[in-house]
Amino acid sequence: MAIERTFSIIKPDATRRNLTGKINAKLEGAGLRIVAQRRVWMTTAQAEQFYGVHRERPFFRDLVTFMTSGPVVVQVLEGENAVAANREVMGATNPANAAEGTIRKEFAESIEANSVHGSDSAENAATEIAYFFAGTDIVG
Ligand code: ADP
Ligand code: MG
Repeated sequence: MAIERTFSIIKPDATRRNLTGKINAKLEGAGLRIVAQRRVWMTTAQAEQFYGVHRERPFFRDLVTFMTSGPVVVQVLEGENAVAANREVMGATNPANAAEGTIRKEFAESIEANSVHGSDSAENAATEIAYFFAGTDIVG
């Protein structure tokens, strides 16, 4: 077990409903420490690049439109096995399949407007963190 970092986004559906604090409480309750955090309104170009791996998926255009529909909160989370711990507290992509107590079960509106993003591997976490934060922004 190692201390690692992962990247998280509180999505526009959640900021619109003023859920940043409630979601942060869930993250902290799961043993994750918020070591960097900033509110940003992504441009279309930023969202397209961030979700570039999904470019060929049928939902890509809608996803970019959704992610640029309002402000998001970008975060770096730190803790034991942070990537897996965050994926666990997030819950399944489709809130209909998300376990009780997870963020998506409690807060997500739909498979698209599912309140949070979390990196799916340590390698992708490093890329995603670097996309939004300088090393000096992260205070562990
Ligand atoms: P996750 O966010 O759980 O890692 P993916 O990486 O597969 O899920 O998808 C990225 C995001 O794209 C999802 O969080 C969701 O906002 C959106 N998405 C995924 N699948 C669909 C779908 N079938 N229809 C609409 N939006 C989707
Ligand atoms: Mg993903």
